[in-house]
Parts: sequence; C-alpha cells; structure tokens
Amino acid sequence: MNHDAYEAVIGLEVHTHLLTKSKLFCGCSTEFGRAPNENVCPVCMGMPGVLPVLNQHAVELAVRTGIAAHCDISPRSIFDRKSYFYPDLPKNYQISQYETPVCKGGYIEIAEGGEPKRIRLVRIHIEEDAGKNIHETGASLVDFNRSCVPLIEIVSEPDLRSAAEAGAYLRELRAILRYIEASDGRMEEGSFRCDVNVSVRRRGASELGTKSEIKNLNSFRFVEKAIEYEVSRQIEVLEAGGKVAQETHLWDPVREETRPMRSKEFANDYRYFPEPDLPPLVVPAAMVEQVRRTMPELPAARRKRYAAEFALSDYEAQVLTADRDTSDYFESMIPNLKNRKSAANWVMTEVLRAANEAGKSLANSVPPATETGALLKMVEDQKISLNAAKTAFAAMVKSGKSADATISELGLSQVSDESAIAAACEKVIAAEPAKVAEYRAGRDKLFGFFVGQVMKAMGGKANPKVINEILRRKLSA
Ligand code: ADP
Ligand code: MG
Ligand code: ZN
Repeated sequence: MNHDAYEAVIGLEVHTHLLTKSKLFCGCSTEFGRAPNENVCPVCMGMPGVLPVLNQHAVELAVRTGIAAHCDISPRSIFDRKSYFYPDLPKNYQISQYETPVCKGGYIEIAEGGEPKRIRLVRIHIEEDAGKNIHETGASLVDFNRSCVPLIEIVSEPDLRSAAEAGAYLRELRAILRYIEASDGRMEEGSFRCDVNVSVRRRGASELGTKSEIKNLNSFRFVEKAIEYEVSRQIEVLEAGGKVAQETHLWDPVREETRPMRSKEFANDYRYFPEPDLPPLVVPAAMVEQVRRTMPELPAARRKRYAAEFALSDYEAQVLTADRDTSDYFESMIPNLKNRKSAANWVMTEVLRAANEAGKSLANSVPPATETGALLKMVEDQKISLNAAKTAFAAMVKSGKSADATISELGLSQVSDESAIAAACEKVIAAEPAKVAEYRAGRDKLFGFFVGQVMKAMGGKANPKVINEILRRKLSA
C-alpha cells in the first residue's frame, strides 16, 4: 500500500487546568489529591439558586496564555451555557465560551525537523471542569473536587502534518504554559489533556478529508501512537475504496489501537446560550498591558539566545529550555564561568541524571545551581580535575554540602604546587634511566609514559598541565 501518496492533517484541542488557588466560580480549593468531595460547596455542586462569581486570576492566566501564544485578546467576550446531562455535571450545563472566546488567532512555533513552523491557533476559551465519576464494584460514585476547576481550551488549526509535529506542538505548548505559570501541565493528574483530530488526504490536494477525533489521551506517547495508528487506518479505508466515517474514537493503550466511541451523526446538540448569571467578560487594555509587561522570557526566545550568546547547538538549547527549572538552573550556574558549553553539558548529563534518578524536581534533588557553578569554576581554574568534579558532585547530591567543603573533605584538590610536582618528576626520571635514554634518543612517544608515572606517584591529583611543563623541561635538560 502506498502510504506516501497521502498526507496526514491534524488539529489538536488541549484542555489545561489553570494554576489558581480557588475554583472558577467559587472559593473552593483546587488542590489535587484531596479526599473525595473535600473541596466542594453549594456553587460547585450545582445546588439550585447559587450564583457564579468569576475568578479574576483565572482570567489573567488565560490572557497571559493568549499573549504568550500571540493571540488577539477580546476586549469583551461572553460566557455560554453548554447543556448536557452527565452525573459528574450537577448543573446539567457547563459554563464555557462559545462564539466569543477570550483569545482568538495566534500561533505556537515548533521546530520539528529543523525549519521553524507556525501552528496557528483558532481560539483559547475559558470554561469550568466537570467532576469525576468513579466506578467501583457495586457502586458508581461522583467526586466533585474537580467540578468548577478553571480550564482553558486551546484549539489549533489543522496545521500539523505528522505525529512528530503534534508531539513537538504539545511539548512546546506545555513548556510555554509552565514558563508563564499558567498551568503545571501535569498530564498524569489530568491537568493537561488532549483531543486529537485526524484526517488524511492525497498529497497535493487542497481540500480537507473527513476527520475522526480521538479522546482520552493522557500522555505524549499515546498521542503520537494514536495518530500513527489512525493515519494508517484511514489510509487503508480509503485505499480499499471506502470512506472515513466522522466518528469519535477512544485510544486503547493496552491494545494500541483506536476504537469508535460514537458517530458524529449522533453528535450532541449542546443548546448553547449566553450565561444569564454572569456579565460579559471585559478585559481592559490596562490589564493586557500589565500582563505583557510581566511576561517572562519564553522558551523560543531562550533557545535563540542560547544559540547566539553561548554558541549552543539547537539540540542543546532545546534540552536546556524544555523546562523552565532546568533553564533557570543553567542560568544561575554560569555567571562566573567562561566555558558555557561545558556548563550546558554538565546540566544535560550530571544534573538531569541525578534529578531523574531521584525522580524529583531539581530544587529537591541536586545542589543549588550556585554550588554546581562553584564546582565547575574550580575545574576552570585548574584547582580540581573534571573527574574530581564528578566525584564531588555525586557526593554533594547525597550530602547537601557546599562545593568547597566537599572538595576539601574528599581531598580532591588538584596539586599545582610546582615543587611537589618537580620532586615527583625527578623521582620518576631517576627510576627509569633506560626509558629516559630512549626518549632523549628520539622516542617522543614515551612522554605519555612519564606523565602517567608522575600522576601515579601523586595519587592522580596533580595538575596535568604543570606536570607536562616540568617534565618537558627536565627531560630535555
Ligand atoms: P468540531 O466541530 O468537530 O469540534 P472544529 O471545526 O471545531 O470541529 O475543529 C475541532 C478541531 O479539529 C480543531 O483543532 C481543528 O483544527 C481540527 N480539524 C478540523 N477539521 C479537520 C480535518 N479535516 N482534519 C483534521 N483536523 C481537523
Ligand atoms: Mg471538537
Ligand atoms: Zn465550590
């Protein structure tokens, strides 16, 4: 089958929780992991007669996301009721935004495969999350802790062309959300969820094919796998002379396939209408200005800066900026260092490895960036060897002690004392008269042997540069 004759077309709908302390329309806590129905009140349980009060911080975070994604911010938008029945939705409607989202247009730039590419956004709107149904043997229960937690939905245009591009888009979007502290992006806690829309068309065609939608994807790997599966499936349907049905599918992570859940012919009619209990949402220009002024440097800008200022490769810049913690760590590490490239390398290997092994955040797993920086400064100043720095770093991860204290405790200082090194050189020369004669007769290769012997005599702690200098002088004398 000729899959190359087809092109995949993908659009993503991402739902992400906003990092507010309280819910969208009431004062209940949004904290994840509390006992069921601990974070509830009459408003988020949808009792009759209660009134929603909009959380201003949620609006600010939505606007912040919109500005980070180059969207137009609507000066005035309205909330709508999206009506449907489900046990986890006690009001029987969700407050969302329909025709007038708070942000329109915009784009996320990805660099999958080298060339930068802009993935346009359709919109970003604010809505409340639903509760959670829990099915146990003999009972179906509802936990309303998540009910009314603020969400934004970020809808992309169908600009993505492969599973890899979709993955790159999601990673970039998640990184941005985390940089601007709009969302923690925790997929495993359901605070960053993705619906995938996929269609295929013959390469060169301008019309879009019929799409299917895959719901319930809670990891980047599942998104990529589901797209690959769905693209192949649709191509096979078309090649067999069939038509792709406009359906909603579920991803089965165990069997690694998508399964139809419902046909769009039975699509819900949500009966949208303006929410009568909330006034229009007005975003004043001053607020947009304020958000713009306090916008941190975003990952794309950092990547460019790292490439330009520190001569890092695209790959290195990508790894360092993927996460704001990592990027901030690198930046706090380097002020006193000359060799930024080796500092970058150190973060990408020693630091990230230690954090991964601990399975914790950088702040809770590795020495403070300034201490790691101090350690690398000692390497630059030739006070310790690179190997000694690695040993010391591993010890610091465990002990939490400073670089200075660790180096002296473990006796890792590199000896640069010329007289001590000169004495060791003389000893080696005296002990190896035959080799010395050979060297002097022209066997240059023996030089390495002498360096090794001196290093050994000094317990591996001597400065190799000083050994080289002194040995050369003494051997040619
Ligand atoms: P629906 O009404 O089914 O939700 P929308 O037009 O609102 O469809 O689009 C939802 C998502 O589907 C958007 O991210 C959009 O980019 C994407 N999309 C729309 N048409 C296609 C298509 N033919 N192929 C792939 N993705 C599509
Ligand atoms: Mg949709
Ligand atoms: Zn509440």
